[in-house]
Amino acid sequence: MRILISGASVAGPVLAYWLTRYGFSVTVVERAPALRRTGGHAVDLFRPAMNISEKMGVLPRVEERATGANRMTVHREGARRPVRVDLSKIFSATSDRHVEIMRDDLSEIFYDAARDDVEYIFGDSITAISPDGEVRFENCAPRRFDLVVGADGLHSNVRRLVFGEESRFSAFVGAYLGVLTLPNASGLDGELLMHVGVGRTAGMYGARHLGDARALFLFRSERELGHHHRDVPRQKELLRGAFGGMHPEVDRWLDELDRTPAFYFDSITQLRMDTWSRGRVTLVGDAGYCPGPAVGGSTSLAVVGAYVLAGELARAGGDHERAFPAYERAMAEYVRGSRAAALSAAKTLIPTSRLGVQGLAQGARLISALPAGPSRALLRLTTRSARLHNAMTVDDYPPLPTAAGGRAGADGRELYP
Ligand SMILES: Cc1cc2nc3c(=O)[nH]c(=O)nc-3n(C[C@H](O)[C@H](O)[C@H](O)COP(=O)(O)OP(=O)(O)OC[C@H]3O[C@@H](n4cnc5c(N)ncnc54)[C@H](O)[C@@H]3O)c2cc1C
Repeated sequence: MRILISGASVAGPVLAYWLTRYGFSVTVVERAPALRRTGGHAVDLFRPAMNISEKMGVLPRVEERATGANRMTVHREGARRPVRVDLSKIFSATSDRHVEIMRDDLSEIFYDAARDDVEYIFGDSITAISPDGEVRFENCAPRRFDLVVGADGLHSNVRRLVFGEESRFSAFVGAYLGVLTLPNASGLDGELLMHVGVGRTAGMYGARHLGDARALFLFRSERELGHHHRDVPRQKELLRGAFGGMHPEVDRWLDELDRTPAFYFDSITQLRMDTWSRGRVTLVGDAGYCPGPAVGGSTSLAVVGAYVLAGELARAGGDHERAFPAYERAMAEYVRGSRAAALSAAKTLIPTSRLGVQGLAQGARLISALPAGPSRALLRLTTRSARLHNAMTVDDYPPLPTAAGGRAGADGRELYP
């Protein structure tokens, strides 16, 4: 049984890994010419995604590449003294298993885990999917697949082809996000510097093994600011407008906008679809249920979604009419919880009032000052995301095929021909 996955970032390679282990034959098409290795931004793996990484045997590599972020200094706009926070306490209060890692490191680790068993096509994109499974590409000749999975992110191409324009499913959460790569002039190693004001938050972090650093900008806007996603000069102008004059340090980060080799800007939107499967096609990760980049733990959601989808397909013997609804049912609560957690995280991270600015800094300080037990209890009482990730449990799916058992997969024979 042949399955095509669009997208080779996080959800795509995890899904490819598990599908090949269950004996499906997998092709991944990725628009980028090669696996991205510029670092991207830091992402979080919470307990359920850590457990899945462990089952995949990649946890030691994940932990080896962790950013090691453990300290945060918060400058409040208008206040003289910064607040220093033990970030590791906040992470461990959020989830009893957590790692922060650069997205491109994570995607390389997941890709390596099954690269020899998967056909990867880089530098191409799907242009049409017919109901009988014929798929057309920009470059490759048309091919037939039994199932197609969109793992191609928030602005998914597969979703647009099968379900329609993104605007039908996306909800603006009232904020924007910008990230730029810049020299790690202050030699940050495991430390996050933050400047928080009413309606705007800027931060900078560096990772041990990265030669450079990232500056992250989050700001509120009541309405969507007309910008085209390819109009980079306009996006940089919007960032300068929102953060200029906040603090001399933030101004220095903004100065790098003219020199940065990597820049990202987008509105923070949530995808809200009632169902993310149609016929032979389904969606996984951000493509199907992004709760909002940088605020909703969406990387863990993507890893869990990929694992569950593969598991349900294996459990249903490849019958997508049973597997897709089961996958959606299994994910529904985690998806709903992530959306709610993202809205509340956006409110906390980009305060709407001076009280909120004080609350963010003081709350973080209090949690980091308490011993582990009480800090965990306090965070769980006060934030949704702290309850969400540890509450998520994932099923154990059919045991992996073994040569002795006559079921194939990793050894090349198809389990579901
Ligand atoms: C700035 C920023 C900060 C973030 N911070 C955090 C964080 O702190 N914590 C966290 O957990 N998450 C964070 N996220 C979210 C996280 O990056 C995503 O949730 C995660 O990467 C989702 O993985 P995915 O595989 O579903 O999609 P993506 O990582 O978006 O990958 C989609 C893949 O599909 C490919 N693609 C796109 N179009 C096509 C096409 N037409 N054909 C073929 N391939 C295509 C892309 O090139 C890409 O490789 C952040 C995101 C951003 C943008």
